[in-house]
Amino acid sequence: MTNWSVFKFGGNSLKDIDSLKKAIELVSDFGKDPLLIVVSAMAKTTNSLEAYLEAKINGDEILAKSILDEVINFHFQLSESMGLLDQTLKLGLEGEWNRIQGVPSDFAYDKRYDAIVSAGEIVSSIILHAAIQTKHPQSSWLDSRRVIYTNNNHRRAEIDLLTTEHNIQNDLKNERGIWITQGFIGYSIENQDYTTLGREGSDYSAAIFAYALNAEELTIWKDVPGLMSGDPKVFENVRLLEEVPYEEAIELAFFGASVIHPKTVQPLKSRNIILHVRSFLNNESKATKIGNFKKLKPVVPCLIKKSNQVMLSIRTKDLSFLSEGQLSEIYNIFSDIGLIVNLAQHGAASATFSVSNDHIILPLVLLKLQEYKVEIENNLVLYTVRYSDEVSRNWLYMKGKPKMEQRSLNIDRVLLSE
Ligand code: ASP
Ligand code: MG
Repeated sequence: MTNWSVFKFGGNSLKDIDSLKKAIELVSDFGKDPLLIVVSAMAKTTNSLEAYLEAKINGDEILAKSILDEVINFHFQLSESMGLLDQTLKLGLEGEWNRIQGVPSDFAYDKRYDAIVSAGEIVSSIILHAAIQTKHPQSSWLDSRRVIYTNNNHRRAEIDLLTTEHNIQNDLKNERGIWITQGFIGYSIENQDYTTLGREGSDYSAAIFAYALNAEELTIWKDVPGLMSGDPKVFENVRLLEEVPYEEAIELAFFGASVIHPKTVQPLKSRNIILHVRSFLNNESKATKIGNFKKLKPVVPCLIKKSNQVMLSIRTKDLSFLSEGQLSEIYNIFSDIGLIVNLAQHGAASATFSVSNDHIILPLVLLKLQEYKVEIENNLVLYTVRYSDEVSRNWLYMKGKPKMEQRSLNIDRVLLSE
């Protein structure tokens, strides 16, 4: 274990002048030396850059320009209102905007996506770096594309862990002070291209940095008090989970607890690095520690709502028996395209899946499933209750008639109409 610690700030903790000031304050108050800060794109920038690309693809140049102008103005104004907009920052920002406008339109979709959408993290990190420099002039900026090496599976690139660890060690091993870098993005050496790790992937990047540095701890600053027994925006009477075993955190994230990205915990677990999930608004309050604990504290029903689900019911065209070979073919199609299955059931002649409705991935999957008969039902929501009890079970089954359900000892999962 080294004495590095890692902070991660997400889009919500970098969305306006107040949150940016808060982030700087947290770095001064809680940051130890050496400290690496991993950021994601500010506010909803990733969504906007996706919309920009969509407009470009549809040939709607007017819309594309207006979306990009808005993104540019947002970053420009935020920098200016913080008094940061000197020549260096101006050049840095303009460089990125020019770069993405120059991304060739004949790039394959996924490659074009990564080249454009990665700008969100780059500009966010250069603005935060400028902001932190006002208090800590010696702080440094690290381009994560120099160190996070991936395969060339654009939009959901997988990290080459060995090389990445080596690169990070090489760059940072003997360093001290504050470093600022980007989550979500990487670099494919084979194609000499930018890559991204999948939406919401910057927690995962932060975990990889912590892993490679063999850090003492990773703190993810959030706009919630920590990992809760349910999303407070959705459920009443939720409680803060104070201690969460690594395995439990992996399960909760897989079921859809959106506070942390599902891939985040594994690298930390393998090196016994504590993960703190803390509120950046109220940092005096209790927080969540994810670590090598024996059990959840407190043990309470954990409620997870995953909206925007689609149920796919898949049969053979002649309604014959669905073989294991066919099931494996179906799963291969899902995994090749990157569709994540949230709940699955299969019987003799059909297989049913609850999957997230991704407007890019789903049409590609349906195209590949043409030799099957596929029925689709939209606008569904998947509820999972872990550590369920009588009360939570009654509550759940009052919500409607399940389209799919799965129950085991202390987990209830049901798919319902929205
Ligand atoms: N900015 C990226 C996204 O919104 C990555 C992240 O926020 O973790 O998906
Ligand atoms: Mg984001």
